Amino acid sequence: MTDLLLGGVEGGGTKFLAAVARYGDGAAPKIVDRLRIDTTDPAATLGPVAEWLAAHDLAGLGIATFGPLDLETGKVGDTPKPGWSGADVVGTLTAAFDTPPPTAFDTDVNGAGLGEWRWGAAQETKVALYLSVGTGIGGGAFIGGRPLHGLGHPEMGHISVPRHPQDDHATVCAVHTTCLEGMASGLALSARGGGPPEQLGDDDPVWEFEIHYLAHGLADLALVLSPEIIVIGGGVMQRPDLLQRVSDRLDEILDGYVATPRVTHPHFGQEAGLMGALVLAESIASNQ
Ligand SMILES: [Zn+2]
Repeated sequence: MTDLLLGGVEGGGTKFLAAVARYGDGAAPKIVDRLRIDTTDPAATLGPVAEWLAAHDLAGLGIATFGPLDLETGKVGDTPKPGWSGADVVGTLTAAFDTPPPTAFDTDVNGAGLGEWRWGAAQETKVALYLSVGTGIGGGAFIGGRPLHGLGHPEMGHISVPRHPQDDHATVCAVHTTCLEGMASGLALSARGGGPPEQLGDDDPVWEFEIHYLAHGLADLALVLSPEIIVIGGGVMQRPDLLQRVSDRLDEILDGYVATPRVTHPHFGQEAGLMGALVLAESIASNQ
């Protein structure tokens, strides 16, 4: 089989990453060129990425960006991020091609999870979850390697979690009183600790709250979806021991009622999102 060129775009709240990769022997694509653009307004962010992509002869393009998204139209839904509500991500990113390649579009977490299922930590699982705990919290479920889509895409960051009895901090979610993102996102950690999470000490009491909320969120997701594995990425999870402590607490909460799923970091680390976008590209290119 001749190598194909795939294009992938991971759109995040602070940066857009794009990559072109060679793919052909069934192994993970090999990135041969990449681009990084700071996320500002949609035109200034998406325009340069579109021009860069169009300079390559792509067999498929995968776009995985922050949500909420309208998967039917390729646009961003209602978001508090200034200027981005209704932004035409797919339309703008494919506008510079003479003939746009087949294009697949999904959330950043669905992309990352798909990458982990296809080539990473969640290979050969029947049900897998991918959760990102960074500035915000998002998650996707993968049933037989297919991302769960229904009315739209899941919003796992906004499930309700029980307030920790010693926690008197307000939520940072504008919509919900005690949702996972509102209580345990990087933004919530910053509000509790009075500064960025990476500046908090390992023994800071806020980590007890973090473990409590993440473990309760995972317990609810485990009870509903019965995943074999939960892959958790995102900047907050780089804190040493946090993943293990969340996994241990999850085990205590489930208390043997159901088996505790394996909880692990992404195989692709900080590249999980970009690899996921390339999987989306592969999924649509290989159908042609
Ligand atoms: Zn919320």
